Amino acid sequence: MTIPSQLNNYINGEWRPSAASAYLEVTNPATQEPLAQVPLSPAADVGLAVQAAAAALPAWRNTPAGDRIQPLFKLKALLEQHLDDIARTITLESGKTLNESRGEMRRAIENVEVACGSPMLMQGDVLEDIARGIDEMMIRQPVGVAAAIVPFNFPGMIPFWFFPYALACGNTYIIKPSEKVPLTMQKVFQLIEQIDLPPGVLNMVHGSKESVDALLEHPTVRAISFVGSTPVAKYIYSRASANGKRVQAQGGAKNPTIVLPDADIEMTTRITADAVFGCAGQRCLATSTVVTVGSARNSFSEAIAEAASQRQVGYGLNEGVEMGTVINQASKERIEGLIQQAANEGATVLVDGRQAKIPGYEQGTFVKPTILDGVAANSDLAKTEIFGPVLSLVHAQTIEEAIDLVNQGNYGNMACLFTSSGAAARKFRHDAEAGNIGINIGVAAPMAYFPFSGWKDSFFGTLHGQGKHAVEFFTQTKVVVERWPSDWSRQF
Ligand code: NAD
Repeated sequence: MTIPSQLNNYINGEWRPSAASAYLEVTNPATQEPLAQVPLSPAADVGLAVQAAAAALPAWRNTPAGDRIQPLFKLKALLEQHLDDIARTITLESGKTLNESRGEMRRAIENVEVACGSPMLMQGDVLEDIARGIDEMMIRQPVGVAAAIVPFNFPGMIPFWFFPYALACGNTYIIKPSEKVPLTMQKVFQLIEQIDLPPGVLNMVHGSKESVDALLEHPTVRAISFVGSTPVAKYIYSRASANGKRVQAQGGAKNPTIVLPDADIEMTTRITADAVFGCAGQRCLATSTVVTVGSARNSFSEAIAEAASQRQVGYGLNEGVEMGTVINQASKERIEGLIQQAANEGATVLVDGRQAKIPGYEQGTFVKPTILDGVAANSDLAKTEIFGPVLSLVHAQTIEEAIDLVNQGNYGNMACLFTSSGAAARKFRHDAEAGNIGINIGVAAPMAYFPFSGWKDSFFGTLHGQGKHAVEFFTQTKVVVERWPSDWSRQF
């Protein structure tokens, strides 16, 4: 599958050039090699996609549910067949390692599989005889034309939290990929072309703010799913809901992990290092703060500093590389600036990943693993999402103090605990203010059949992505009360 250098949108079942007057260059962050030009599509392109989706809606929502999932079975088979090719594209444009890209696509496929069960998940309820001879039922119907606006860090997975469910439930759909990594969805749509979806059922428009605003303003778009940073999530949530749309907006994160003295330090360190440095820390479920309790302080700090120093950083396509680049130069500068800010505010830089130079990839936007010790718990930095391979160490004396520190944060995407005590685990699970909880787990990523929960500033809305929540989000309930007097019917 080859990709043209100037990307087209996919509208009404065909590739169409954008009417954009401006394009952005997409580059390989490890080599700085240019990969393609992505159009910053204007509102007119979004209008065409919405028109196509609206025209396809009546026939698609009347297609039996069992028939609507048949293209998804085909998509699963094609994704399996082309997994390595798509994973390679993810690595080329995002800088993560090939193994991470493959893992990402496995999670995408898992969502297609779960969405194939939508005919069961979208069933309603019926009660006979709510009064004599009167029956009442609740049925679920599609919401209509819906759209997803997605971030750069999982270009292959995040659109799949939404669109397979939206289609299976009878909606028609538009995806707006991240302008930083548009090539992955370009590849996925080359497969979507082959799954016999009627034209207009699934569309893709490239772009940034102008395309997003056009989706938020268009009266025909009935539901918006967003994943990205918290300031943009708040903006999307308020603007789309002011326009009467259904919205689910997943935001940023600053995920804490507590390490108790009774934890297995070797296992905790291994798992936490993956949670901090995996995807170069650019995961909404990355661990960014570890709160050690009591005597765990020394043993864990030493062990994690050692693990950080040993992490193999390099080009994601090369064998043996455990961590790739951050997304671009602006991100590298921002992360390095925040490390300096921590140092200026009195933190000790135990392991310093700034100014990383990888032989053969000197232009690459690498930041090596970094460990900050003694970041003041109430500082701005302790509350700022760094979104890079940087871990802050904070120390507490008791589990109560540590849970208070966890709950002081503005975000609530994930919180983890490492311990061998069931009672401590139970207390943590109950008290921690986060929507995804890990006990002796580093990245508590919900499987596709569970909702991708997030609390506080990590989520705006009611229904999350994935599984049953997605089916509820993409359907509206209708309640029908029926009376059929027997004398109106000659049969009885
Ligand atoms: P971002 O907010 O910059 O961009 C996300 C999307 O919004 C992109 O498609 C972009 O084109 C669009 N956008 C950006 N600025 C906009 C504006 N002013 N108006 C309208 N649209 C705009 O996020 P990012 O940098 O691509 O992704 C990283 C962020 O996403 C991190 O904060 C990370 O925590 C978060 N994230 C959250 C989850 C989650 O499940 N909660 C998952 C993945 C990533």
